[in-house]
Amino acid sequence: MDESSHKMAVPNGWEVKAPSQEFLGLEKNVRDKIDGYLAEHPVKLGAIAKRLGVKVLLSTLPRGTSGKIGQENGDFVIRVNRHEAKHRQRFTLAHELAHFMLHRDLVVAKGGLSENVLLRSGQPVNIEYEANRLASDLVIPSTQLAAVTAQYSGPMTNEIIEDLARKFGVSTAAMEIKLQMT
Ligand SMILES: [Zn+2]
Repeated sequence: MDESSHKMAVPNGWEVKAPSQEFLGLEKNVRDKIDGYLAEHPVKLGAIAKRLGVKVLLSTLPRGTSGKIGQENGDFVIRVNRHEAKHRQRFTLAHELAHFMLHRDLVVAKGGLSENVLLRSGQPVNIEYEANRLASDLVIPSTQLAAVTAQYSGPMTNEIIEDLARKFGVSTAAMEIKLQMT
């Protein structure tokens, strides 16, 4: 079945995108560490990083660089561009955490990844798609979104999407993707 057709039905008739293969494929010991955080909103990404042993720093990065991940003195460190908008920083952090969970060997082999504003690091684009899908599951966990959307009734409106985006600390664009609007 095509991945894009995986949906979770919500009692009010809306649809929520089902968790990605990348999320479902995470090792149990990783899920055990992060699942608790995925049950609250906005998801505490910093706490997830800490739990995974990853250091996160807001840094002044070159214009056009949204974030990076690499090893510094033996520790995995994610740097997020402090000059970008808050929602943007959250998604960048989630994207780098996804690289840490999915592509750690690549990060080590390449001596780190540095991402442009499209969250492209120069690696094959499927690597970035994987990271974006998992990042989306970190900032807007499907199960939690399904539970939260069940509190609304009637047609989905822009106001509701903005309300949900605010609750999860994401852009309305990111929320629309998760609500199968695009
Ligand atoms: Zn990336």
